[in-house]
Amino acid sequence: MTATPENLRPRVLSGMRPTGILHLGNYVGALQNWVKLQYTHKCFFFVADWHALTTDYEDTSRLASNTLEVFLDWLGAGLDPRQCTMFVQSHVKQHAELHVLFSMVTPLGWLERVPSYKEQQQNLTTKDLSTYGFLGYPLLQAADILIYQADGVPVGEDQVAHVELTREVARRFNQFYSRRGSEGQQPLIKEPQVLLTKTPKLLGLDGRKMSKSYGNSILLSEEAGKLAEKIHGSVTDRPKLTDKGNPDRCPVGNLHQIFSGPERLAYITQGCTQATIRCVDCKALAVESTEAHISPIRERRKHFASQPDEVLRVIRQGAQEATEAAEETMRSVRKAVNLFSLESMETQVNRPAPPARLRVPESADSAATPEDRYHLQTAAWLEKVSAQNPLRKDKPQTFITRKGRKVGLHTATEDNGVWKFLVADRALNVLALLAQDHDRYLRDFILPPKLVQEHWKTFNRENGNIAIEIRASGKDVLLVTSNGDVPIQQYESDYSALQ
Ligand code: SF4
Repeated sequence: MTATPENLRPRVLSGMRPTGILHLGNYVGALQNWVKLQYTHKCFFFVADWHALTTDYEDTSRLASNTLEVFLDWLGAGLDPRQCTMFVQSHVKQHAELHVLFSMVTPLGWLERVPSYKEQQQNLTTKDLSTYGFLGYPLLQAADILIYQADGVPVGEDQVAHVELTREVARRFNQFYSRRGSEGQQPLIKEPQVLLTKTPKLLGLDGRKMSKSYGNSILLSEEAGKLAEKIHGSVTDRPKLTDKGNPDRCPVGNLHQIFSGPERLAYITQGCTQATIRCVDCKALAVESTEAHISPIRERRKHFASQPDEVLRVIRQGAQEATEAAEETMRSVRKAVNLFSLESMETQVNRPAPPARLRVPESADSAATPEDRYHLQTAAWLEKVSAQNPLRKDKPQTFITRKGRKVGLHTATEDNGVWKFLVADRALNVLALLAQDHDRYLRDFILPPKLVQEHWKTFNRENGNIAIEIRASGKDVLLVTSNGDVPIQQYESDYSALQ
């Protein structure tokens, strides 16, 4: 599948509880869709181990091993750590921090009204769910989503109420803490959209919903022999050979609807509804179709299970990437809530000198070609920055960081307090904008991936290029976008995005 460039991908977040080895219901209900989403969206997928504790806090003996099983199934199904960020929720402590802050502003009634709160208390009678953790889990879910400033959350109908609560929490938090200024209010936390995902229903082998607790499931990694045994033992919709049936009501018919091609599906549908096929033959075809789909998944899973170091590396990398993204949000949140920050206090006390600005050689004014001029403007800057953050040259005006980020390096000279950068419309993660003033001093603004991704589509287009403008306004430097001006002075000489 062709992947959409990273900076054009909307952000998406979704999680799964560590219930152990996944079954086909988990696969068709979510995972199959995730595998597609990873090529078109910037995806954060997490194993929700803290969420598992909200209902299963008494016996945690399988929590860690179940987490690993879920990871193996994800990798087996085709989630690719180069395309998405996959991590364990409890490895990113910022989720808990944001949850605590949300719990301060969320009225109790909002949580008590969540439909699943009462339903589950009534249904799960063997568990004592009169705990804060259980009441507060939709709020933890809100923190999971909002900390990544997700554009969307892929959910089924039954989860829409949770995302609505998440949006309400974001609104309320923004009401209290978003910055107010003459440019209008800037939301601190983005309200995500519901990505309503229609997933095919999959009945369990006994005709009820497929669930591990009913003992009616087929594992995603089921061995071929066991798969055939289970499907042949399944209930059907035709008690007698002469009865006409309906594949929609039959677990075997369901498997065909999901895993068989259109011709085979049409054949068994006709045979079932007209009673011209035997169930045993229909089942044999379902075994064949299902096995063809899951055998590569099973083999990939086996491969990863035999490479534990590789799996741990993926989990560690996911934790790093997710922590980086979550911390970016938490830095602004802590500041907005006015939590005491040692760093900012120390900065105020020590008042460090502003970053030393570089001077462009005079020869740039009379450079023979735009390329020569660009070279003279960027040479000293590249030398200074590359000492700490090596940048490898890629295409013209593009460099690659040690972590593989694509950096677009552009220059512009001041015109009446405005700098206009002409940038080719290409996939970039980071923008390094070198703004030269009339005295040939350079200011450098390093716009990180999140900011670039968020505003890429809001810049003006000019003759196939993107025209990015920044302007100085008092102490502020503002990035001009069609959604309003965005202050960027905090990114001046901040080289963290170049790592
Ligand atoms: S013919 Fe197939 S789909 Fe129809 S009832 Fe029998 S097993 Fe189910």
